[in-house]
Amino acid sequence: MREIHKPSTPACPYCRAPLAIGSRRVRAGACPTCKRPLLGLASPVSGRYRVVSVIHLARIATLPIAGGVIVAFAMGLLHPIEFARAVAGVLLAYGAIDIWDGTAGLESRIARVGAHLQRLAAARRSSVFKILFGGSSLLLGAIGLLFTR
Ligand SMILES: [Zn+2]
Repeated sequence: MREIHKPSTPACPYCRAPLAIGSRRVRAGACPTCKRPLLGLASPVSGRYRVVSVIHLARIATLPIAGGVIVAFAMGLLHPIEFARAVAGVLLAYGAIDIWDGTAGLESRIARVGAHLQRLAAARRSSVFKILFGGSSLLLGAIGLLFTR
């Protein structure tokens, strides 16, 4: 019988807590420690399994969209109204991600600011800030969409 032993148990990419997965590989779910959504992905090429943070993934996925919108506008490919609409859409996406991150931070009392991992009171403060910041992004995005109809 060929049993592949992983050298290390997978850890949460957000809070670095080891994930007790058991015999079954987790496909999707929240980290039991920091409550952030996680996604288990097996590489189609190497078959290597890794766990990614959905919040990091969403932030990374929004970057090229935001960059593409700015480049398209600078090249004159986008009408100012379309540009404003696209910016409003990006603000909505960032706002939703920040609120998601912030509410999970309030619940778990674990927050990440850049590479720095915070706990308890510090995590609570940054989570409240993330929710307020995310809320203003959502509001600005919603106003932007309403005024560009
Ligand atoms: Zn975690």
